[in-house]
Amino acid sequence: MHTLTKTKAILLSVALLVSATSVAAAQVTAIRAGGLVDPEAGTVAAHQVILVENGRFTAVGANVAIPPGADVIDLSALVVLPGLVDAHNHLALTYKEEPEHNVYYLTYVLESTPLRAIQAASNGIQMLNAGFTIVRDMGNAGNYADVALRQAIEQGWIPGPTIINSGIIIGGMGGQFWPTPEMALDHNIVYPEYLEADTPDEIVKAVRQNALFGARVIKICVDCKPWGYTVDEIRLFIAEAAKAGLKVEGHVQTVDGARRAIEAGIWSIAHDRGLTDEMHRAMAEKGIFRAGTETPLSLTGHTSPERFERTVASLRNAYENSVPLTFSTDADYWIPGMTRGEVAIEFIETWKAADIPPVDILRAMTTNGYLVSETADTRGPIRVGFVADLIAVEGNPLEDIDALRQVRFVMKDGVVFKRDGVMTPAAFFHGGPVNGWRIR
Ligand SMILES: [Zn+2]
Repeated sequence: MHTLTKTKAILLSVALLVSATSVAAAQVTAIRAGGLVDPEAGTVAAHQVILVENGRFTAVGANVAIPPGADVIDLSALVVLPGLVDAHNHLALTYKEEPEHNVYYLTYVLESTPLRAIQAASNGIQMLNAGFTIVRDMGNAGNYADVALRQAIEQGWIPGPTIINSGIIIGGMGGQFWPTPEMALDHNIVYPEYLEADTPDEIVKAVRQNALFGARVIKICVDCKPWGYTVDEIRLFIAEAAKAGLKVEGHVQTVDGARRAIEAGIWSIAHDRGLTDEMHRAMAEKGIFRAGTETPLSLTGHTSPERFERTVASLRNAYENSVPLTFSTDADYWIPGMTRGEVAIEFIETWKAADIPPVDILRAMTTNGYLVSETADTRGPIRVGFVADLIAVEGNPLEDIDALRQVRFVMKDGVVFKRDGVMTPAAFFHGGPVNGWRIR
């Protein structure tokens, strides 16, 4: 046998042996659910059995037989539902009162990318503990701390939500900042927090850079500067991102910016400041996702009564116009006494204030979250063949959305992360990339 052919044959038999072993050793987990919520249908089915094998759901129903030897998890006192999605968070950014007085411009000066990557790992665990199994991490992660976070979770080093990350936010010179000439011309101090692209060539290159370094979505500053991006420039972003299979989210803060982003056919719009009734109608018509980042009044210091009133009215208007709504927090700060997950779940207060029915709040947090994250065909719904992510709570969230505040159980990728209200993440920590170092 030719040496190369021989090597191939050996590799093949090893591969077959490995797969045969894993099939033989596959442990079945059987979950007894007191209730099982289908957010899309808006229903709860009583007394369901869910089987999980090799990290996926293999059976769901009332009359599913539990195979002998299965590891049975009794959640019959709880209501099981799919994992939650925060469609806009910043896990690698945490500004705070001490020492930077919540001025986030200073956080970039004070904290290194490696430190922020470790903060992101911790914030990710805190989000998973609160029931968020998918987080779209929309930039402000230094020099690609978001990519490191996603890789560490996917390779199997640490537990965390599924991360859909943007890499560095792309904007015109300065991005969201107004750097001094010393900073901007020498690209120091607050760089590389934003990736600058002012011309068509730079736009193409910036998108390719983020795609190359591991972004899963492209985030752009549509109107952070008065000149902003034109409709054609936004279209160029969308076309270039599409080559890498990526969608584009726009940070939008003016009505004009919103109009341009909508006309260009952007995937999703972050923040509600530019979203009028007219813009909402246009978004609904084009199916553009709204990540409104609606800060509740209860997060003291992060909004004002006047601002909150506008936020609630805008969210209500979007709902009435049937805009595809996602649950998004823009969480990027620390409130002493609260985890990042507790900060995120607090945002349901705004949705309640907008008088949105629990079923539609839950759809924003699940169904639309999977759609905006582009996981809807693989992860999210509790259906046979899907990746086994689920959570369980004490009450029925379709009756009382506040039930989501007390997540008692979390399963991620078929592995138990939290049980009886306590994190038990040991099975997620590994001394090496157990899922393969090739995950990039
Ligand atoms: Zn943001």
